[in-house]
Amino acid sequence: MAKLLVEPTEKGLWCESACVHVDPWRPVEAAVVTHGHADHATPGCGRYIASPETASILRIRYGIKAPIDELAPGEFRDVGSARVSLHPAGHILGSTQVRIEASGSVTVVTGDYKTDPDPTCTPFECVECDALLTESTFGLPAFKWPSDADVFDAVNRWWRGNVEQGMNSVVFAYSLGKAQRVLAGVDASIGPILVHGAVDNMLAPYHEAGIGLPETRKALVEAAKESAGRALIIAPPSAAGTPWMRKFTPCSTAFASGWMAVRGTRRWRAVDRGFVISDHADWDGLLDTVQRSGAKFVGVTHGYTRQFSRYLRDELGIDAEPVATRYSGEGESESEDEQVPSKQVPASGGAS
Ligand SMILES: [Zn+2]
Ligand SMILES: [Zn+2]
Repeated sequence: MAKLLVEPTEKGLWCESACVHVDPWRPVEAAVVTHGHADHATPGCGRYIASPETASILRIRYGIKAPIDELAPGEFRDVGSARVSLHPAGHILGSTQVRIEASGSVTVVTGDYKTDPDPTCTPFECVECDALLTESTFGLPAFKWPSDADVFDAVNRWWRGNVEQGMNSVVFAYSLGKAQRVLAGVDASIGPILVHGAVDNMLAPYHEAGIGLPETRKALVEAAKESAGRALIIAPPSAAGTPWMRKFTPCSTAFASGWMAVRGTRRWRAVDRGFVISDHADWDGLLDTVQRSGAKFVGVTHGYTRQFSRYLRDELGIDAEPVATRYSGEGESESEDEQVPSKQVPASGGAS
């Protein structure tokens, strides 16, 4: 991978000139961490470089005690023989891309990113570079996100409709990022909002950062009783179908994910509704980023790597190829069984 200043190794993406790993999946001496999702943040490293918000997530979520060099987005740091800076990725609170400059060449590692607006994090910033390593979680033309206004209109209508029928509304959303985005988007005047403990744990960094979120209560028995038939409950997907859910019956359920744009996943989820809310770039967002970066070489990781790199090569004439990593996509930090099985999503060439 001579064209990128990082190369995949057993432990993660290694940057020789800076002597650091970027988002390693195994403990290493020095790690630059793009954001706090579990497939990008490994505890046990000797030291870390991360944005201040990601640093606070690393401490709360993983109990990381190792020194974290907090690097504000846009600030440069000499690391080894390289110059390293972080730039907003628009994915979740604190998420950044990593820009590495060495030997007269610039590489940008996007980490996870989204180009659509999100009130819970700093907007994505396109960074010019010679070589780009982009994710491709939703790198098929079939993925095109609706506007937030349309999606949250639908969420609010569904919640209001459930209240009229005396039913609770449960939204499954990943506890870091997606859950807070849902909170920020709903109309809190409809009824009380309860959150699962895993979601509640991840609210502090958002409050610290001054992100406006509606008032919530922990979804304990008492709170469930008091708000019966009116509440919106936000829980991680791992709570679906567990006894934890019983205190909210009768309820309607929904899943908030980019995968909801694909036919078939709804049934697999066994939820009543699917809302297309993703924290990753859609097809247009990915293409736009690649083109605006001006990169002469594009490495593709994290998703539809083969399909997306082939499109860049064949249709846009950009030198591109897949780069093998272990990042998991929109399952992120939850357990393996939250991953949408590959048979549920369109295979190569299946989308148009
Ligand atoms: Zn992520
Ligand atoms: Zn990821």
